[in-house]
Amino acid sequence: AITDAITGLPNHQAVISRLDGAVADCQQTHGSCALLFVDLDHFKRVNDTWGHRAGDALLREVAHQVRAALRLEDFVGRYGGEEFLILLPRVDLQAASQTAEYLRSAIGSHPYSWQPDAGSSAVSIPTTVSIGVAIYPLHGVSGEALLESADRAMYYAKYTGRNRVYLADME
Ligand code: GH3
Ligand code: MG
Ligand code: MG
Repeated sequence: AITDAITGLPNHQAVISRLDGAVADCQQTHGSCALLFVDLDHFKRVNDTWGHRAGDALLREVAHQVRAALRLEDFVGRYGGEEFLILLPRVDLQAASQTAEYLRSAIGSHPYSWQPDAGSSAVSIPTTVSIGVAIYPLHGVSGEALLESADRAMYYAKYTGRNRVYLADME
């Protein structure tokens, strides 16, 4: 299976092999590409407040919004729990930053909601993401190195307040 059951996106295994494929393409063509590490902010609170089912529904909806915000040639998969990886082929640092910022803003402004029971009215679940951006070859020339750079940048985005985009080399 290469599809994640909750979001319908490519799963961890598929993400990793796609990343390696993208890096190989870049090496062959001497091109560039970008890796975006996207992590939902305070997602545990959603589970704690509204239950695991609400968390699953939110993951599904965020996945849908992420997919809808990107171009057809961009790849998005579920890397782990509330983490998504995005691959943008043939983009430079400026284009990748623009896309990441657009994505952050699109997700942050979407009106996510959850209906606890059939009888009750829907509650709003404000949702934001922190995004780390790494560029081939600027921040790494292997899938592993890019992943590490993007992950570190994402953590820095968290550390500096969340709902932010952070570039790998600005630490
Ligand atoms: P931060 O802003 O620092 O990222 O906080 P966070 O709460 O998002 O991060 P943390 O890593 O503390 O919690 C992630 C939570 O995601 C914990 C775990 O229970 C939940 N989670 C992981 N996978 C799933 C899933 O498939 N469904 C649901 N409902 N929750 C999940
Ligand atoms: Mg996480
Ligand atoms: Mg999180």
